[in-house]
Amino acid sequence: MNISNTHVAVIGGGCAGLSAAVALVEKGFKVTVFEASSQLGGRARTVLVENNSLMQLLDNGQHILLGAYRETLALLHKIGVDEEKVFLRVPLQITMQSNSAKTVFSLKSVQYLPAPLNVLVGLIACKSLSISELIAAIKFMLHIKKNRFQITGDKALEQFLIEHKQSSKLIQMLWEPLCLAALNTPIAIASTRIFLNVLKDSFSSSSFIGSKKNSDFLLPRLDLSKIIANPMAHFIQKNGGDIKLSRRIRSLEIEGDGFSLTTRDG
Ligand SMILES: Cc1cc2nc3c(=O)[nH]c(=O)nc-3n(C[C@H](O)[C@H](O)[C@H](O)COP(=O)(O)OP(=O)(O)OC[C@H]3O[C@@H](n4cnc5c(N)ncnc54)[C@H](O)[C@@H]3O)c2cc1C
Repeated sequence: MNISNTHVAVIGGGCAGLSAAVALVEKGFKVTVFEASSQLGGRARTVLVENNSLMQLLDNGQHILLGAYRETLALLHKIGVDEEKVFLRVPLQITMQSNSAKTVFSLKSVQYLPAPLNVLVGLIACKSLSISELIAAIKFMLHIKKNRFQITGDKALEQFLIEHKQSSKLIQMLWEPLCLAALNTPIAIASTRIFLNVLKDSFSSSSFIGSKKNSDFLLPRLDLSKIIANPMAHFIQKNGGDIKLSRRIRSLEIEGDGFSLTTRDG
Protein backbone atom coordinates (compact mmCIF):
# COMPACT_ATOMS: atom_id res chain seq x y z
CA MET A 1 0.00 0.00 0.00
CA ASN A 2 1.31 3.43 -0.92
CA ILE A 3 0.63 5.30 2.28
CA SER A 4 0.91 8.85 0.97
CA ASN A 5 -1.54 8.08 -1.89
CA THR A 6 -4.08 6.40 0.36
CA HIS A 7 -6.86 8.73 1.46
CA VAL A 8 -8.58 7.46 4.61
CA ALA A 9 -12.00 8.71 5.69
CA VAL A 10 -12.69 8.61 9.40
CA ILE A 11 -16.42 8.71 10.13
CA GLY A 12 -17.14 10.37 13.47
CA GLY A 13 -15.05 12.87 15.41
CA GLY A 14 -15.56 11.40 18.90
CA CYS A 15 -12.65 10.00 20.96
CA ALA A 16 -12.45 6.86 18.81
CA GLY A 17 -12.46 8.63 15.44
CA LEU A 18 -10.03 11.32 16.55
CA SER A 19 -7.65 8.72 18.04
CA ALA A 20 -7.75 6.77 14.78
CA ALA A 21 -7.08 9.94 12.79
CA VAL A 22 -4.11 10.85 15.05
CA ALA A 23 -2.60 7.39 14.49
CA LEU A 24 -3.18 7.58 10.72
CA VAL A 25 -1.72 11.06 10.13
CA GLU A 26 1.27 10.03 12.23
CA LYS A 27 1.88 7.15 9.83
CA GLY A 28 1.65 9.55 6.88
CA PHE A 29 -1.84 8.73 5.56
CA LYS A 30 -3.96 11.43 4.01
CA VAL A 31 -6.93 11.66 6.39
CA THR A 32 -10.31 13.37 6.38
CA VAL A 33 -12.51 13.23 9.48
CA PHE A 34 -16.25 13.58 8.82
CA GLU A 35 -18.25 14.68 11.87
CA ALA A 36 -22.04 14.87 11.74
CA SER A 37 -22.41 17.53 14.41
CA SER A 38 -21.05 21.07 14.38
CA GLN A 39 -18.55 20.15 17.07
CA LEU A 40 -15.91 17.48 17.70
CA GLY A 41 -15.69 15.28 20.78
CA GLY A 42 -18.85 13.18 20.52
CA ARG A 43 -20.02 12.17 23.97
CA ALA A 44 -16.89 13.65 25.60
CA ARG A 45 -17.32 17.30 24.67
CA THR A 46 -18.05 20.70 26.16
CA VAL A 47 -21.33 22.32 25.16
CA LEU A 48 -22.65 25.85 25.39
CA VAL A 49 -25.88 25.93 27.39
CA GLU A 50 -28.22 28.71 28.38
CA ASN A 51 -28.93 29.00 32.09
CA ASN A 52 -31.18 31.90 33.21
CA SER A 53 -30.22 33.86 30.06
CA LEU A 54 -26.57 33.25 30.87
CA MET A 55 -24.52 31.26 28.36
CA GLN A 56 -22.28 28.73 30.07
CA LEU A 57 -19.78 26.11 28.91
CA LEU A 58 -20.56 22.73 30.45
CA ASP A 59 -19.21 19.25 29.85
CA ASN A 60 -21.64 16.81 28.31
CA GLY A 61 -21.67 14.90 31.61
CA GLN A 62 -18.98 14.59 34.27
CA HIS A 63 -16.13 12.43 33.03
CA ILE A 64 -13.68 10.58 35.23
CA LEU A 65 -10.70 8.76 33.78
CA LEU A 66 -8.91 5.92 35.55
CA GLY A 67 -5.16 5.62 36.01
CA ALA A 68 -5.50 2.37 34.05
CA TYR A 69 -6.42 4.25 30.86
CA ARG A 70 -2.79 3.97 29.79
CA GLU A 71 -3.46 4.13 26.03
CA THR A 72 -5.55 7.29 26.44
CA LEU A 73 -2.92 8.89 28.66
CA ALA A 74 -0.13 7.91 26.24
CA LEU A 75 -2.11 9.42 23.36
CA LEU A 76 -2.73 12.67 25.25
CA HIS A 77 0.97 12.83 26.13
CA LYS A 78 1.91 12.29 22.48
CA ILE A 79 -0.22 15.19 21.30
CA GLY A 80 1.29 17.49 23.91
CA VAL A 81 -1.29 17.41 26.72
CA ASP A 82 0.34 17.69 30.15
CA GLU A 83 -1.48 15.20 32.41
CA GLU A 84 -0.72 17.10 35.60
CA LYS A 85 -2.06 20.35 34.21
CA VAL A 86 -5.33 18.92 32.90
CA PHE A 87 -6.19 16.25 35.49
CA LEU A 88 -6.33 16.12 39.25
CA ARG A 89 -5.11 12.61 40.17
CA VAL A 90 -6.66 11.24 43.39
CA PRO A 91 -6.62 7.71 44.90
CA LEU A 92 -9.81 5.75 44.24
CA GLN A 93 -12.54 6.98 46.53
CA ILE A 94 -16.26 6.30 46.34
CA THR A 95 -18.58 8.17 48.68
CA MET A 96 -22.35 7.77 48.46
CA GLN A 97 -24.74 10.07 50.29
CA SER A 98 -28.41 9.74 51.14
CA ASN A 99 -30.93 12.43 50.16
CA SER A 100 -30.23 14.13 53.49
CA ALA A 101 -26.50 14.29 52.61
CA LYS A 102 -25.63 11.62 55.19
CA THR A 103 -22.70 9.46 54.03
CA VAL A 104 -24.06 5.93 53.57
CA PHE A 105 -21.02 4.37 51.91
CA SER A 106 -17.39 5.37 51.75
CA LEU A 107 -14.53 3.41 50.21
CA LYS A 108 -11.01 4.81 49.99
CA SER A 109 -8.05 2.93 48.57
CA VAL A 110 -4.96 2.84 50.78
CA GLN A 111 -2.05 4.71 49.23
CA TYR A 112 0.88 2.91 50.88
CA LEU A 113 -0.06 -0.61 49.67
CA PRO A 114 0.34 -2.17 46.20
CA ALA A 115 -2.71 -3.21 44.16
CA PRO A 116 -4.95 -5.03 44.78
CA LEU A 117 -4.19 -4.84 48.55
CA ASN A 118 -4.78 -1.05 48.47
CA VAL A 119 -8.45 -1.66 47.56
CA LEU A 120 -8.88 -4.80 49.69
CA VAL A 121 -7.71 -2.95 52.83
CA GLY A 122 -9.94 -0.04 51.80
CA LEU A 123 -12.86 -2.47 51.67
CA ILE A 124 -12.04 -3.88 55.11
CA ALA A 125 -11.92 -0.34 56.52
CA CYS A 126 -15.26 0.46 54.90
CA LYS A 127 -17.67 0.73 57.84
CA SER A 128 -20.78 0.71 55.68
CA LEU A 129 -20.54 -3.00 54.87
CA SER A 130 -21.59 -5.91 57.09
CA ILE A 131 -19.06 -8.72 57.72
CA SER A 132 -20.95 -11.04 55.34
CA GLU A 133 -20.99 -8.37 52.58
CA LEU A 134 -17.29 -7.77 53.10
CA ILE A 135 -16.53 -11.49 52.85
CA ALA A 136 -18.69 -11.75 49.71
CA ALA A 137 -16.83 -8.82 48.10
CA ILE A 138 -13.39 -10.23 48.95
CA LYS A 139 -14.42 -13.73 47.78
CA PHE A 140 -15.63 -12.21 44.53
CA MET A 141 -12.35 -10.32 43.98
CA LEU A 142 -10.33 -13.49 44.73
CA HIS A 143 -12.53 -15.54 42.40
CA ILE A 144 -12.16 -13.20 39.45
CA LYS A 145 -8.43 -12.83 40.07
CA LYS A 146 -8.06 -16.65 40.15
CA ASN A 147 -9.87 -16.77 36.81
CA ARG A 148 -7.51 -14.09 35.43
CA PHE A 149 -10.38 -11.64 35.08
CA GLN A 150 -11.91 -13.72 32.30
CA ILE A 151 -15.24 -15.46 31.78
CA THR A 152 -16.35 -17.88 29.13
CA GLY A 153 -18.71 -16.06 26.78
CA ASP A 154 -20.35 -12.98 28.23
CA LYS A 155 -23.40 -11.94 30.28
CA ALA A 156 -24.94 -8.86 31.84
CA LEU A 157 -22.85 -7.61 34.77
CA GLU A 158 -25.83 -7.45 37.12
CA GLN A 159 -26.60 -11.13 36.56
CA PHE A 160 -22.93 -12.03 37.11
CA LEU A 161 -22.79 -10.07 40.38
CA ILE A 162 -25.98 -11.66 41.70
CA GLU A 163 -24.65 -15.12 40.80
CA HIS A 164 -21.58 -14.26 42.88
CA LYS A 165 -23.70 -13.35 45.91
CA GLN A 166 -23.08 -9.60 45.81
CA SER A 167 -25.82 -8.00 47.95
CA SER A 168 -27.97 -5.21 46.51
CA LYS A 169 -26.07 -2.73 48.74
CA LEU A 170 -22.70 -3.89 47.37
CA ILE A 171 -24.02 -3.65 43.83
CA GLN A 172 -25.60 -0.24 44.36
CA MET A 173 -22.74 1.31 46.34
CA LEU A 174 -19.66 -0.28 44.84
CA TRP A 175 -20.04 -2.13 41.54
CA GLU A 176 -22.66 0.04 39.86
CA PRO A 177 -20.77 3.36 40.30
CA LEU A 178 -17.57 1.71 39.04
CA CYS A 179 -19.44 0.27 36.06
CA LEU A 180 -21.09 3.60 35.24
CA ALA A 181 -17.80 5.49 35.57
CA ALA A 182 -15.83 3.10 33.39
CA LEU A 183 -18.39 1.84 30.88
CA ASN A 184 -21.14 4.46 31.06
CA THR A 185 -23.62 1.59 30.72
CA PRO A 186 -26.23 0.42 33.25
CA ILE A 187 -25.20 -2.82 34.97
CA ALA A 188 -28.39 -4.52 33.74
CA ILE A 189 -26.92 -4.52 30.22
CA ALA A 190 -23.18 -3.86 30.74
CA SER A 191 -20.81 -6.52 29.47
CA THR A 192 -19.19 -8.55 32.28
CA ARG A 193 -16.23 -9.33 30.02
CA ILE A 194 -15.44 -5.62 29.45
CA PHE A 195 -16.00 -4.77 33.13
CA LEU A 196 -13.56 -7.52 34.17
CA ASN A 197 -10.99 -6.03 31.79
CA VAL A 198 -11.40 -2.70 33.59
CA LEU A 199 -11.01 -4.39 36.99
CA LYS A 200 -7.93 -6.23 35.72
CA ASP A 201 -6.29 -3.03 34.53
CA SER A 202 -7.28 -1.09 37.63
CA PHE A 203 -6.78 -3.57 40.46
CA SER A 204 -4.54 -6.41 39.31
CA SER A 205 -0.93 -6.20 40.44
CA SER A 206 0.12 -8.41 37.52
CA SER A 207 -1.15 -6.04 34.82
CA PHE A 208 1.79 -3.63 34.80
CA ILE A 209 4.28 -1.87 37.02
CA GLY A 210 3.19 1.01 39.25
CA SER A 211 -0.20 -0.61 39.35
CA LYS A 212 -1.59 0.97 42.53
CA LYS A 213 -1.84 4.14 40.42
CA ASN A 214 -4.09 2.26 37.99
CA SER A 215 -7.09 2.61 40.26
CA ASP A 216 -6.55 6.38 40.67
CA PHE A 217 -9.32 8.70 39.52
CA LEU A 218 -8.31 11.45 37.11
CA LEU A 219 -10.66 14.41 37.42
CA PRO A 220 -10.63 16.98 34.60
CA ARG A 221 -9.39 20.40 35.70
CA LEU A 222 -10.43 21.99 32.39
CA ASP A 223 -13.38 21.74 30.00
CA LEU A 224 -13.32 18.27 28.36
CA SER A 225 -12.97 19.67 24.84
CA LYS A 226 -9.82 21.51 25.88
CA ILE A 227 -8.32 18.23 27.13
CA ILE A 228 -9.34 15.78 24.40
CA ALA A 229 -11.00 16.99 21.18
CA ASN A 230 -9.22 20.33 20.63
CA PRO A 231 -5.63 19.08 21.09
CA MET A 232 -6.37 16.03 18.92
CA ALA A 233 -7.89 18.21 16.19
CA HIS A 234 -4.86 20.50 16.37
CA PHE A 235 -2.48 17.52 16.00
CA ILE A 236 -4.45 16.09 13.06
CA GLN A 237 -4.55 19.40 11.18
CA LYS A 238 -0.89 20.20 11.94
CA ASN A 239 0.00 16.85 10.35
CA GLY A 240 -1.97 17.50 7.16
CA GLY A 241 -5.32 15.95 8.12
CA ASP A 242 -8.62 17.58 7.23
CA ILE A 243 -11.66 17.85 9.53
CA LYS A 244 -15.14 18.43 8.15
CA LEU A 245 -17.82 19.40 10.67
CA SER A 246 -21.58 19.16 10.08
CA ARG A 247 -20.95 16.42 7.50
CA ARG A 248 -22.97 13.32 8.36
CA ILE A 249 -22.01 10.37 6.16
CA ARG A 250 -25.26 9.20 4.64
CA SER A 251 -24.03 6.24 2.63
CA LEU A 252 -20.93 4.18 2.15
CA GLU A 253 -20.40 2.05 -0.94
CA ILE A 254 -17.58 -0.07 -2.26
CA GLU A 255 -16.14 1.51 -5.38
CA GLY A 256 -13.17 -0.02 -7.18
CA ASP A 257 -10.58 -0.85 -4.53
CA GLY A 258 -11.90 1.84 -2.20
CA PHE A 259 -15.12 3.33 -0.90
CA SER A 260 -17.39 6.13 -1.92
CA LEU A 261 -18.99 8.23 0.84
CA THR A 262 -21.97 10.53 0.51
CA THR A 263 -22.76 13.61 2.58
CA ARG A 264 -25.60 16.11 2.13
CA ASP A 265 -23.31 17.98 -0.29
CA GLY A 266 -22.77 14.93 -2.43
C1 LIG B 1 -22.83 11.62 30.54
C2 LIG B 1 -21.65 10.77 30.17
C3 LIG B 1 -20.69 10.48 31.14
C4 LIG B 1 -19.59 9.68 30.82
N1 LIG B 1 -18.65 9.45 31.77
C5 LIG B 1 -17.54 8.76 31.46
C6 LIG B 1 -16.51 8.61 32.41
O1 LIG B 1 -16.60 9.10 33.53
N2 LIG B 1 -15.40 7.90 32.05
C7 LIG B 1 -15.28 7.35 30.81
O2 LIG B 1 -14.25 6.74 30.54
N3 LIG B 1 -16.25 7.47 29.88
C8 LIG B 1 -17.36 8.16 30.18
N4 LIG B 1 -18.34 8.31 29.26
C9 LIG B 1 -18.20 7.59 27.99
C10 LIG B 1 -17.35 8.32 26.96
O3 LIG B 1 -17.83 9.64 26.78
C11 LIG B 1 -17.50 7.54 25.65
O4 LIG B 1 -17.09 6.20 25.84
C12 LIG B 1 -16.65 8.11 24.54
O5 LIG B 1 -16.77 9.51 24.44
C13 LIG B 1 -17.13 7.42 23.23
O6 LIG B 1 -16.35 7.90 22.15
P1 LIG B 1 -16.65 7.33 20.70
O7 LIG B 1 -15.76 8.09 19.76
O8 LIG B 1 -16.55 5.85 20.69
O9 LIG B 1 -18.18 7.65 20.40
P2 LIG B 1 -18.96 9.05 20.40
O10 LIG B 1 -18.43 9.97 21.43
O11 LIG B 1 -20.38 8.69 20.44
O12 LIG B 1 -18.58 9.68 18.98
C14 LIG B 1 -19.18 9.27 17.80
C15 LIG B 1 -19.15 10.48 16.87
O13 LIG B 1 -19.55 10.05 15.57
C16 LIG B 1 -20.41 11.02 15.03
N5 LIG B 1 -21.21 10.32 14.01
C17 LIG B 1 -22.10 9.33 14.20
N6 LIG B 1 -22.60 8.91 13.01
C18 LIG B 1 -21.99 9.66 12.06
C19 LIG B 1 -22.09 9.72 10.63
N7 LIG B 1 -22.91 8.91 9.96
N8 LIG B 1 -21.32 10.60 9.97
C20 LIG B 1 -20.47 11.44 10.63
N9 LIG B 1 -20.36 11.43 11.99
C21 LIG B 1 -21.09 10.55 12.70
C22 LIG B 1 -21.22 11.51 16.22
O14 LIG B 1 -21.78 12.80 15.98
C23 LIG B 1 -20.15 11.56 17.30
O15 LIG B 1 -19.48 12.81 17.36
C24 LIG B 1 -19.45 9.12 29.52
C25 LIG B 1 -20.42 9.42 28.55
C26 LIG B 1 -21.50 10.23 28.86
C27 LIG B 1 -22.52 10.53 27.80
